[in-house]
Parts: sequence; C-alpha cells; structure tokens
Amino acid sequence: MTDFSLLARLNNAHGPSGRESEVRKVLCDVLAPIADEITFDGLGSVIARLNRHATGPKVAVVAHMDEVGFLIREIRSDGLLKVFKLGGIDPMVAVNSEVEVKTRSGKKYTGLIWSNKPIPELTMDDLWLDVGADTREDVLAMGIEIGDSAVFATRHFALNDSGNLVAKAIDDRIGCWLGAELMRTLAHSSLQCDLHFVATVQEEVGTKGGKTAIEQLKPDVVIVLDVATAKHADAQSGTQRVYGNGPCLVVADKIALGHYPLLNFVSDVAKEQGIQVQRDFLAGGGTDNGPATMVGHGIAGLAIILPVRNCHSAYTQVSQNDVLNCLALLQQTITQLDETQTARLYSYY
Ligand SMILES: [Zn+2]
Repeated sequence: MTDFSLLARLNNAHGPSGRESEVRKVLCDVLAPIADEITFDGLGSVIARLNRHATGPKVAVVAHMDEVGFLIREIRSDGLLKVFKLGGIDPMVAVNSEVEVKTRSGKKYTGLIWSNKPIPELTMDDLWLDVGADTREDVLAMGIEIGDSAVFATRHFALNDSGNLVAKAIDDRIGCWLGAELMRTLAHSSLQCDLHFVATVQEEVGTKGGKTAIEQLKPDVVIVLDVATAKHADAQSGTQRVYGNGPCLVVADKIALGHYPLLNFVSDVAKEQGIQVQRDFLAGGGTDNGPATMVGHGIAGLAIILPVRNCHSAYTQVSQNDVLNCLALLQQTITQLDETQTARLYSYY
C-alpha cells in the first residue's frame, strides 16, 4: 500500500502562484536528507540533485508547486474584499466556495466567496470575499492587507474506496509528490544520470519558474509532470486522456511539441515494462515544457500529464492507479537514461 501522507501535506499547503513558501518548505524538509544538494533559482523554484558524481546526462524532472488561487485586490468600506485571480479559475466554479486567507504574518482565516448575480452571468468582478468583517478597519485589524493570498479551503481526502484522491491542489502537487517519490526511491540505486527534481514557481501565471530554473540548470533532458482535465471514453471528444487509463505522453500542446525521439523512447519503456500509457494533445494550453525546452540551444523535453477531474476547482480528483503507473514509468525511464540513450535523442544526422 502506497503511503500518500506526503501528498496530503503537499495538497493541504497554502501555495498559490508567487506564494509557494509552504510547499517549498514541505519539499525541502523531505528532500534534504535524500538530495546531494538543494539550490534555488531567483524566483524560488527548488532544484534538488541526486547522484552528482554521475558521468551520464543531466536530467530534470519538473513539476510546479503553485496552485490556482486569489490575491486580495481591494478592501472595501463594508468589509468585503475583491480578488484578483491567479491562474484559470472560472468565477462560476469559485462562487459559493470556502477559501483560506493567509496574511503576511502567516495567520489564516476562513473566507466565503459569494455573489448577488445569477451564476451564468458571473465575472470575477462580481465575486465578494467575505471574512466576516463589517468594516474596512475590521479587516485591517485582522492583519489582512492588499496582496495577501487565498486558496480553496478543501483538505485532502480519499473518495470512499474508489482509489481516487481529492484535493484543492492536485494540480500540480501530484507532480511534486511524484518528483519527491522518484528521488526517494532512486536514492540508493545505481543511476547513470545526474538527476534533478525541479519544483517550479508561478506556472499558473505564465510558466515562469519552468523557464528560470531550467536556464539556471541547463539539463540535457527535461520531463515535465502536470495534470489536465480527463475526457470520457464515450464522449465526442474521443478516447484520449481517459481517467484511469494511465499517464498521458503529450505529443503537442499550444506552445510546444514533445521531443519526438524522447516521446518514442518513453513509449518504448512503457511498452517493455507493461505500463499503460496514453498519447495526448493539449489544444487549449501548455505546461512548463514549453519555456523549459526553448532555452539555450534547445533541450529535448516531454510533458507527461495525469488525467484529472474538476481541474482548477476546490475538488480536483486523480486516480491512484494513474499516479502509480506514472511513478513506475518515471523510475524506469530515468534508470535507462544513460549517455548512449541521450546521444540517440540528439542524433540529427
Ligand atoms: Zn498544472
């Protein structure tokens, strides 16, 4: 039985874009005894290294720490707050939800998001964040300032005995958990590659840390872990990215193509090992794989995403089976990534 207590800690941490310090602390505490070294990029992304004396390729496994959320934008005289959204949150999803407001000093308050407008007409401007204050002075007395953050208040839980895990921040703490598990499980194996787990900041507001951390690290191969909304096998949208059918290898997204030789290598590893995977396209968005691979002379990169339900909401669900298949695929891929294999990825003539 896999222990998901670290995932629960990661999921419950308060960490919208630009406010990732709680997630960073959980990861650094867990990785410090495992990693050879931990460094940071200028924006606060974590770069944890394993097997520093390796002669093989430098490999980066990337996942973003930030979750969607809100910043306090305005404190009104009647004590209600206006919010600025961080990432793609639909106001129709945000309304009537409970959030956790965090002040600069770390104090946390419950907030409720509501609106007087009919739900189909909602914009972010129609939402009020209510912390129970009657006046602006009451809000300030609580220590809440403009620029403080809020996230959905849901605590991590398992959905009955379904094997589905639910939390506010599965996007992308599941990637952070996979990165940390990968480091832990490979810590005492004989790896050829110099492995780095890169936990990035500010993905939801423009894939910022994916660019800055990879520019600093300059790896030979990048594998990005993220999530996307699942489709149903019988829906008109086709049979790609079906929930529970395994991790998805992203052939192309809006910004980047998966590096074709790397895509084929990972597919072959999955086939050899009998790990179920899917091939996928992200027509509407991108991941850290775009900016992370278009640095320097260009880096072979691939995004592997997990199908989820209710993405960017208070209750995002992921299948344990998909998560464990993804971990197995990563372990095998990283173990097989040696100098010869990497040279094959870059043999253009
Ligand atoms: Zn994500």
